Amino acid sequence: MNMDFERKLAIPVEVKEMIPLSARASEIVEKRNTQIREVFEGKNDRLLLIIGPCSADNEDSVIDYISRLRRVQNLVSDKILIIPRIYTNKPRTTGDGYKGLLHQPNPNEKPDLLKGIIATRKLHMRAVEETEFSCADEMLYPENHKYLDDLLGYVAVGARSVEDQQHRLTASGIEVPVGMKNPTSGVYSVMMNAIHAAQHPHTFIYRGWEAHSYGNPLAHAILRGYTNKQGQSQPNYHYEDLVKLCEFYAEGEFDNPAVIIDTNHCNSGKDPFAQPRIIKDVLNSAKQNSDIKKLLKGFMVESYIEDGAQKIGEGIYGKSITDPCLGWKKTEQLILEIAEML
Ligand code: PEP
Ligand code: MN
Repeated sequence: MNMDFERKLAIPVEVKEMIPLSARASEIVEKRNTQIREVFEGKNDRLLLIIGPCSADNEDSVIDYISRLRRVQNLVSDKILIIPRIYTNKPRTTGDGYKGLLHQPNPNEKPDLLKGIIATRKLHMRAVEETEFSCADEMLYPENHKYLDDLLGYVAVGARSVEDQQHRLTASGIEVPVGMKNPTSGVYSVMMNAIHAAQHPHTFIYRGWEAHSYGNPLAHAILRGYTNKQGQSQPNYHYEDLVKLCEFYAEGEFDNPAVIIDTNHCNSGKDPFAQPRIIKDVLNSAKQNSDIKKLLKGFMVESYIEDGAQKIGEGIYGKSITDPCLGWKKTEQLILEIAEML
């Protein structure tokens, strides 16, 4: 092969021995898993907010941000259930650029995958232990899921991965909710097929094992907007888009039909300040239509300490180095406003 095999990396069980989950942390994760599951099962009608930076580029600023979320969570806990985003793997449209904490634990330095695996587990662990939040991450590389499977509260399969067999089959063996994003083309059937695949049992090769999955009844849709033939961003959060999704769900046999609206990416055209308006628009659609209300489980929001984004190397604390985010002040106000609206 046209590549060097530099070193063999620690496998998940070894990394878990190095950085073990405490009994308290495990209890927090379990309790949160039940709370989150109950929202998808329709047993609890709190709104989920999967919220945080596009990429978790810096341990201190991410923990600082999530600690702020904890204070707000405590104010709105009867209406909103927050799942912070700690996104440690970044898909890149052309393959160029920052690939996330897993590859570059220091964005200004060269990739170091061993340090990255450790940094990723430590960050998710700190979030649980210091803020009592289990968090969300994108499953960009299915074989890496087991490094974090005892910590994560929510998993997303991204727009560029949702058509991939290994992602779908791995999702079918995950115990927490897996959100399947619509593909970048926006075709709903690709996302619905991914949900179907993830909700059913499969036999496949996983980490060198012949493995059997049981199917994940909590696999569901995430609408993130799409790119048209001209390469322009198009939204898919409008009333008609949601009605269409209700119809797709009704045509198939699905457990726990559900949608999360991703308010950034192609839905906002990467204008992070459009996110509050999009949330209000969707909540209004849910008020008009009981099928939409039943399907809508929450929102995915890109938010960080500072508004916007910066280039790598600018070094502004708490400012995104990937997609532009809503800053903290606007985020706090938004969460309180959503709670008022519910
Ligand atoms: C993200 O959530 O930051 C992301 C990369 O999403 P998508 O797969 O929708 O582009
Ligand atoms: Mn993003």
